[in-house]
Amino acid sequence: MSWKCGECNARENKDEDVVVDAVCHHCGKPLCRKDQRTVAVDEAFADTEFDTGGSREAVHCDTCRKTYHPRTTTAVRQPA
Ligand SMILES: [Zn+2]
Ligand SMILES: [Zn+2]
Repeated sequence: MSWKCGECNARENKDEDVVVDAVCHHCGKPLCRKDQRTVAVDEAFADTEFDTGGSREAVHCDTCRKTYHPRTTTAVRQPA
């Protein structure tokens, strides 16, 4: 069985460089590499009790990233 990206509907295909190897932290949607939005773990989990399993980043789809982390525009932020 191959995964299909829930964002762009690309089917996993190693020949075409489509790799679906993560699901959205919030909605569980499978995401290909180019649709994955990573949010630094400290901010992503500030308001949750979610167990990260030791991961430093949480993967989100673009919709959830905007919905749950509207102030996070990139993984690397400028100092205030
Ligand atoms: Zn995609
Ligand atoms: Zn999502």
